[in-house]
Amino acid sequence: MNLILMGLPGAGKGTQAERIIDAYAIPHISTGDMFREAMKNETALGLEAKSFMDKGALVPDSVTNGIVKERLAEPDTKKGFLLDGFPRTIDQAEALDAMLKDLDKKVDAVINIDVDPTILVDRLSGRFICRDCGATYHKVFNPTKVEGTCDRCGGHNFYQRDDDKPETVKNRLSVNIEQGAPILRFYEEQGLVHTIDGNREIDDVFKDVQSIIDAE
Ligand SMILES: [Zn+2]
Repeated sequence: MNLILMGLPGAGKGTQAERIIDAYAIPHISTGDMFREAMKNETALGLEAKSFMDKGALVPDSVTNGIVKERLAEPDTKKGFLLDGFPRTIDQAEALDAMLKDLDKKVDAVINIDVDPTILVDRLSGRFICRDCGATYHKVFNPTKVEGTCDRCGGHNFYQRDDDKPETVKNRLSVNIEQGAPILRFYEEQGLVHTIDGNREIDDVFKDVQSIIDAE
């Protein structure tokens, strides 16, 4: 089965992806890994992507799509694949349809792990760091034993990195929501989207994932 995994940062996509590839023995194809692999192997497209990245420029769709197509043509995708981080735009979604058609494949299901963005803001913005010793904590998942006191060094000075601040996290999530909406619509129109409530235990979320895959 050929799957696309969607969900906002912090929604638990990575954990579910690991479960899926273990249970169904299909490769996890993420754009980040694909780029690293293509550059490491110095394929023509990998080198082209690198030339854009070295300049700090965005890699154009023609190159990204080429790398995805090469990856999807590899023999380990025979039983299926789990795409993650692609497509990000409608152009890429249309290109994906075309390349799958060339490869005599199609998208079977889009699994969308849905978590309320306000919950994600709490989850993603809870990290704080001890200024004195660098120990990291999370206000929900890994708090200090005594509030306001570092477990490791007893210090009382904490800070948050810009990336972990609620405002930054909120912005990152809205960009993701805005980018993801048209992609979800594109696949909804084809009746392929299965939305799962991701705000539950990992095992319960995975049970839903399994029933979707098993129904394919
Ligand atoms: Zn400390």
